[in-house]
Amino acid sequence: MRFAETWTSATLVATRDLTADIREFLLRPDAPVAAFAPGSHINVGVEIDGRPEMRSYSLVGEADAKGLRIAVRRAPDSRGGSRYMWQLAPGARLNVTLPSSQFQIDWTRSSYCLVAGGIGITPILGIAQVLARRDADFVLHYAVRSRRDAAYLHELQALLGDRLVVHAGGDGERLDLAATFAKLPPQAMTLFCGPMRMLEAARHAWAGAGRALSDLSYETFGSSGLLPTEAFRVRLADAGVELVIPSDRSMLDVLNAAGHEVISDCRRGECGVCAIDVVGIEGEIDHRDVFFSDHQKRENRKICPCVSRARGLITVDTLHRTQAA
Ligand SMILES: Cc1cc2nc3c(=O)[nH]c(=O)nc-3n(C[C@H](O)[C@H](O)[C@H](O)COP(=O)(O)OP(=O)(O)OC[C@H]3O[C@@H](n4cnc5c(N)ncnc54)[C@H](O)[C@@H]3O)c2cc1C
Repeated sequence: MRFAETWTSATLVATRDLTADIREFLLRPDAPVAAFAPGSHINVGVEIDGRPEMRSYSLVGEADAKGLRIAVRRAPDSRGGSRYMWQLAPGARLNVTLPSSQFQIDWTRSSYCLVAGGIGITPILGIAQVLARRDADFVLHYAVRSRRDAAYLHELQALLGDRLVVHAGGDGERLDLAATFAKLPPQAMTLFCGPMRMLEAARHAWAGAGRALSDLSYETFGSSGLLPTEAFRVRLADAGVELVIPSDRSMLDVLNAAGHEVISDCRRGECGVCAIDVVGIEGEIDHRDVFFSDHQKRENRKICPCVSRARGLITVDTLHRTQAA
């Protein structure tokens, strides 16, 4: 398994409201936690409608003897992971994984551009701390609705001074990604964390500026997609059955629960391990992964069932032959 995980129990030591919708949680794991790479995250066991589930949360700031800091945005149209976190009180016991990171950061660059959208500031904060300590050449662009919604704003202002640029979209200060990337020195690396739509815009602007995609390292927290999250139908070409994917479950979970095994790994639309063939579409696919290229998404020949959804009916071939001789 590429994303191997070690679980430990932990105590919620304290909570702190950072904005009206973002709450910080200080967790103390029972197992010792070694220093972790900036940009790392942990997985947290949550309970949704009585079912055990898991949600990932980035670690805020560098390793600290007090414990692990995470900050959770209360998601309004959610299946319930963030709601579960918000009802926890100090003293609560949780299961968490030890930190791991998927951010690819080349620390030898002479220049960096950090871009955070909303709650995407959580992994970027620790990266900014390291770069500031090294006195590196970098700017952090922090895109938020308003300054009131900007978690850790005062901490960042104190740490970064004019290396922090806040773009409050609701106040007409939208982040112009194309102009930002055009001004960067050729060797610059961009580290991005924000919602899927913003990531798509960043990837387009980055390619438009003639830069190598490998110089844009990113993480996204899961997507609300381009279409509304609604129920859709999946026909399995190989098994001749049709399944309904309700709005609160992923296609991957429904396929596996119905015995049509699809292997998976990251379950976030990043690794592509669960990708299956699409052989027919009577409706529209909403690709919510960041694994396939724009071209592959337009071709609609494969789908990542862990995050992607559809409208109407799609026919897929899982290539899993239960009756195979
Ligand atoms: C590496 C990583 C780090 C993260 N770090 C943070 C962090 O620091 N802070 C933080 O707040 N969050 C973070 N997240 C997101 C977090 O893991 C949860 O996804 C988030 O708390 C929302 O969970 P939820 O169950 O409340 O919402 P979900 O139900 O997961 O809803 C989240 C979004 O998905 C859409 N959605 C709803 N139902 C479905 C469905 N059936 N299928 C697909 N999409 C659906 C909704 O429109 C909603 O916008 C991180 C995620 C990852 C992968």
